[in-house]
Amino acid sequence: MAERVIKDDQPRVYFDCNKCPAFCCSIYERVAVTKRDITRLAKHFGVTFEEAQRRYTTEYDGERVLKRVKDVIFERTCAFLDQKTRGCTIYHARPGVCRSYPGRSRCAYYDVLRFERIQQGDESVIPQIKITFREVEEDVVENADGPERVYEWDDTEK
Ligand code: SF4
Ligand code: SF4
Repeated sequence: MAERVIKDDQPRVYFDCNKCPAFCCSIYERVAVTKRDITRLAKHFGVTFEEAQRRYTTEYDGERVLKRVKDVIFERTCAFLDQKTRGCTIYHARPGVCRSYPGRSRCAYYDVLRFERIQQGDESVIPQIKITFREVEEDVVENADGPERVYEWDDTEK
């Protein structure tokens, strides 16, 4: 069966990965890989599926993920990140999750990066941040004037 082609056509209107130190490749402890991702890696490096799995991935919390290494900017980063250029060294063979991130027209990390650089008037600033995303839960409460919609932070640990 032919390998499905994952298109990288998400609009990058509000962020520029070329001007970012690659938060997404470094902040997250795990970059999950599927069998299809490992097959793609194997093809890219001209090795067997088993060899690609052994060389480039590891087990994390019951999940198969890409290996990580010590980083010059953040604590650790993906083993495939070029730590000097901050670009992906396997761009055309990178996993599906990397292709789809952040899955919307804005990247929260890029927004913070721009904010800090403008704020400090220094284009070399790299904020050391890890954004924790929390769900907002909608609730309907009754009050004197009838039902009212309120939004509460979801405090459950993710
Ligand atoms: S954190 Fe956002 S802007 Fe930076 S490389 Fe990742 S997707 Fe691109
Ligand atoms: S495979 Fe490439 S894009 Fe994905 S986390 Fe690693 S360096 Fe980043």
